Amino acid sequence: MSNPLTIVMYHYVRPLADSRFPELKALELARFRGQLDFIARHYHVVGMAEVIAATRGEPLPPRPLLLTFDDGYRDHHAHVLPALRERGWSGAFFPPACAVREGRVLDVNKIHFTLAGVDDPARLVAAVFTALDDHRDEHDLPANEVLFASLSRESRYDGPEVTFVKRILQKGLPEALRESITDTLFRRFVTDDEAAFAAELYMTPDELRELHAAGMCLGSHGDRHLWLNTLNAEQQRHEIDASLAFLAELGVPRHDWVMCYPYGGYDAELLALLRERGCALGLSVEVGLADVRRDDPLCLPRVDTNDLPTRGDAVPDSWPWAAAAMPPATRTSRSRGGAPC
Ligand SMILES: [Zn+2]
Repeated sequence: MSNPLTIVMYHYVRPLADSRFPELKALELARFRGQLDFIARHYHVVGMAEVIAATRGEPLPPRPLLLTFDDGYRDHHAHVLPALRERGWSGAFFPPACAVREGRVLDVNKIHFTLAGVDDPARLVAAVFTALDDHRDEHDLPANEVLFASLSRESRYDGPEVTFVKRILQKGLPEALRESITDTLFRRFVTDDEAAFAAELYMTPDELRELHAAGMCLGSHGDRHLWLNTLNAEQQRHEIDASLAFLAELGVPRHDWVMCYPYGGYDAELLALLRERGCALGLSVEVGLADVRRDDPLCLPRVDTNDLPTRGDAVPDSWPWAAAAMPPATRTSRSRGGAPC
């Protein structure tokens, strides 16, 4: 790999300590700014247009880095946009259409805030067990202990209880049951005013237009933030076309648009559809540095913000900095896989 591209993935970026949810798994604003200082010292930040051009043979500056922000949070308008503007940088932002348009809180966010709203994750596990007991016969569910043992195994980011709650509510149950339990927990531990919470959490269309006017890239993150690799072809088409219609309303051109797969989920059928629709680039949650000359441009890996230091004066000796700086022959890619959402 020559001149690998580091694509950094961000979700929540906010002044956590003063917030209503200090336990939210978010990047503290001061640490974000420190990380930008580190990046400014050791990388060349590039915009999406340069990355797309690079997939077609144009050169990138040495040690290039692209900043990406998932999920359309208001954090990105309030805190990220000013920080990038100060530096004259462009980032890429991926709002899920239905969250912005319909005032609905995505299940993934309901889970995050429920986890942040409960002091002891064991309490939440107990609440999930009770909900499962209520539906066990109807859905022929395995025993709670069996589900816990199979879904709480080691994760890169969380302890066993949190891993279990996330996995069972994101993927481990039939869709309708998963949504219903997630909603019950959100109402019990966070709020019963979903619309007000959504208005606080996500950017408005006008805020997104402001990002676009400031030179930021806006891309697709689907309509309802689903695992696209679990959908049939028609459902995939709906997700993509609804999100493209939403981007068109925001003024984003239809050519050379960019896809960011919710939870990193994609399959061959989806990639074929994206090619048909003129998608130029796709971002996954596989962990690694991108080789824009060799990787499929629709399947580029990223690194998480947690993989980079959060102080400008940090010594640049850890992965992925070292991987980007090493001579190509000695470079190894880190193990891939795992959705950090
Ligand atoms: Zn997402």
